[in-house]
Amino acid sequence: MLLDIRNLIVELPVGRELRRIVADVSLGIGEGESLALVGESGSGKSMTTKAITRTLPAGARVSGEVRFDGRLVGAMSERELESYRREQIGLIYQDPRAHINPVRRIEDFLLEGLLLFDTRPRAVLRQKVADLLQEVGIADPDRCLGSYPHQLSGGMLQRVAIAAALSTQPRLLLADESTTALDVTTQAEVALLLKQLQTRRGLSVLFITHDLDLAAQICDRTAVMYAGRIVEMQPSRALYAAPAHPYTKGLLQSRPSVDRRYERLPTLPGSPTPAYEAPAGCPFAPRCTERMPICSAEVPPLKSHGVAELACHLGAAARGGN
Ligand code: SF4
Repeated sequence: MLLDIRNLIVELPVGRELRRIVADVSLGIGEGESLALVGESGSGKSMTTKAITRTLPAGARVSGEVRFDGRLVGAMSERELESYRREQIGLIYQDPRAHINPVRRIEDFLLEGLLLFDTRPRAVLRQKVADLLQEVGIADPDRCLGSYPHQLSGGMLQRVAIAAALSTQPRLLLADESTTALDVTTQAEVALLLKQLQTRRGLSVLFITHDLDLAAQICDRTAVMYAGRIVEMQPSRALYAAPAHPYTKGLLQSRPSVDRRYERLPTLPGSPTPAYEAPAGCPFAPRCTERMPICSAEVPPLKSHGVAELACHLGAAARGGN
């Protein structure tokens, strides 16, 4: 496993109390594999990502393990951590305009990090980033390099951000809601680009999203999070075709489709619960139409059922007995 997370728990200080944000997450991503982490806002997706890069807010309490290529991220020295973040991980954020300096040209943005650690002449590095821009689908790299961020569309700017993430040749791409701020057409183009880059470069990808359709298009496997826990993990196509957890089923049924007619679009009852407000037992129980007496008493552990991993007391019965 390139990335191996075991029993991750993250608590953040709020006033005098510690609030649990990630309750118990275990997942792995192999070399060249892509995993989508899907969940509503507050489910703990982004804090899981921050635990991978060790960039959690000050005062955060972490237990469990995050290993990258066998090395414990929590045990890295500041120097090891810096080279791990720079050389092994490529980060793509939701809103590139918030992460690209608006008063500097794209060339300066793309080169400033490289010039610190790569001793080759600026002209060589400039050619390298121009090639990267071409690889991410920018037809006129020279023009793009000479532009300021406000002169580029949101889709172009996200391609620039992807080129920046690739510039140190990382092994793992962390894409945190990287298509959410884009219009639907551009979203599909950027999603396809990520898939192509992953295949061509043999990259590992962790794709954070709240969009199950996009997750199924891009990633080999999908993990669904609820209240700081993974409740279901399956190969994306299998999950999409036959979701097992009542929460995943509810999410898929709540998507509008042009192929169906509705009096009223089905919705999940109630509202999402953060881990620190989760009730005893299964955190989804207050919203679950299939709950049983045991559900309010015991947290269902994540267990394997064939190709699926599932945290539900229905167990194999949730998959129709498979
Ligand atoms: Fe529903 Fe019980 Fe399964 Fe939770 S454990 S999802 S409440 S059936």
